[in-house]
Amino acid sequence: MVRLTDLTIAVTMETTRRRAQQASNGKASEHVEQSAQWGRAWEVDWFSLISVVGLLIFAPFIVFYFVMACDQFECSVSEPLLQLYRGDVNLLSIWARAPSFTWTAAKIYAIWVGFQVFLYLCVPDVTHKFIPGYVGGVQDGARTPAGLINKYEINGLQCWLITHALWFANAHYFHWFSPTIIFDNWIPLMWCTNLLGYAVSTFAFVKAYIFPTNPEDCKFTGNVFYNYMMGIEFNPRIGKWFDFKLFFNGRPGIVAWTLINLSYMSKQQELYGTVTNSMILVNILQGIYVLDFFWNEAWYLKTIDICHDHFGWYLGWGDCVWLPYLYTLQGLYLVYHPVQLSDAHALAVLLLGLLGYYIFRSTNHQKDLFRRQDGSCTIWGRKASFIECSYRSADGGLHRSKLLTSGFWGVARHFNYTGDLMGSLAYCAACGFGHILPYFYIVYMTILLVHRCVRDEHRCSSKYGKDWKRYTDAVPYRLIPGVF
Ligand code: NDP
Repeated sequence: MVRLTDLTIAVTMETTRRRAQQASNGKASEHVEQSAQWGRAWEVDWFSLISVVGLLIFAPFIVFYFVMACDQFECSVSEPLLQLYRGDVNLLSIWARAPSFTWTAAKIYAIWVGFQVFLYLCVPDVTHKFIPGYVGGVQDGARTPAGLINKYEINGLQCWLITHALWFANAHYFHWFSPTIIFDNWIPLMWCTNLLGYAVSTFAFVKAYIFPTNPEDCKFTGNVFYNYMMGIEFNPRIGKWFDFKLFFNGRPGIVAWTLINLSYMSKQQELYGTVTNSMILVNILQGIYVLDFFWNEAWYLKTIDICHDHFGWYLGWGDCVWLPYLYTLQGLYLVYHPVQLSDAHALAVLLLGLLGYYIFRSTNHQKDLFRRQDGSCTIWGRKASFIECSYRSADGGLHRSKLLTSGFWGVARHFNYTGDLMGSLAYCAACGFGHILPYFYIVYMTILLVHRCVRDEHRCSSKYGKDWKRYTDAVPYRLIPGVF
């Protein structure tokens, strides 16, 4: 789901010729072949390298900047720069005013991550046995470039339900800790998330050289920064079940998303004695998005994040820091600026958010149904139409696939992204028009998804060749029919 991914992958596109493949012992062996393209590049140009190093340096500052702007400048994005320019503050004074690392935050975060690891590894899914329609338990992932099919324990919905049940039980009954605990420790927690983000990325990097899970699915470029950022291993694991991608993407980041919003809501209540309709809207719309993610976690195994991306800093650090801090900016903003929307504005935001969600979910569902039933399904009451295509995996095997051309997939080639963008705009619009900070999300998502779309199409084009061309002739637009 997340992602800094695409900003960083934005820096490179697939090369069609593999030049050097490194064996598991790290030594390069010449291996030249033409094959279907997965994941990130094998070769790194200078532009890619500079972008990667730039992101490694600046991404943590972007997160700090936004959070600090709320903490010290009432969520004004321009005020810190203006005051720096006027000499009212300097970098050291801003730094000195920022709350530092605390052991309290470290304990909270350690308990949080430890609890999520426990739920992920030790509580096998039972919800799929009694919730009709929910797909959980042990599920197959997609075929990797080397032709492997990994198994995953899908229990994210259960983890989310247990965590939130405990949160509400604490807030209304046990009172072990304040429901504002996340907001109250927000910046100290940020240092802890950074520690974990860097630790896990570094571990994954070293692990790829020393004990990779599937050596044949590793990619080495020969450039250390690029390898660190974009990842070497495709599906790093510890033991049979601890899958880095599935764990770090979903939990602790996405389970935390709704808890962070709840904490903001409690803070509003504590500070102002009331909760605004804008805060409720943000909690509801983002709550639907998060719940949808866990309800469809088995489907998520077939998305680009799991199927094509390697596990590097952009996923490790991005899931630990970028997602929880920047995807929740609307709620944070509303703590500092408790906006009460007019009924018409609130209704418009709600409708936009729900319509966006409907398009996002239906489009994804159509493709999932179509692929699961190998084209033998009905879409919008009619037999699905599609284009037959073929491709080769890295092991030389010839495989067949189909590209859907009916339903939302006949409207545009990535209408799921369009729905996602509508929902993202709704979260931002819920914050009114007082500041630009809450609009960071829609700007970021637009760059992310437009680039992701281009990147995905580049990959599909090299994977399917002329069959892809037949598909783009049949469905000529990417996101908005008649426009793009
Ligand atoms: P998609 O679910 O759109 O998957 C793209 C893949 O689907 C292609 O690579 C191709 O894979 C296959 N495909 C493309 N066209 C067709 C077709 N016509 N018929 C059948 N299969 C097709 O992309 P993502 O994985 O990027 O996104 C999944 C969802 O996650 C989206 O709704 C997106 O909005 C959301 N998302 C959210 C993010 C967030 O941070 N909030 C970030 C990224 C995504 P193949 O090789 O199998 O043919």
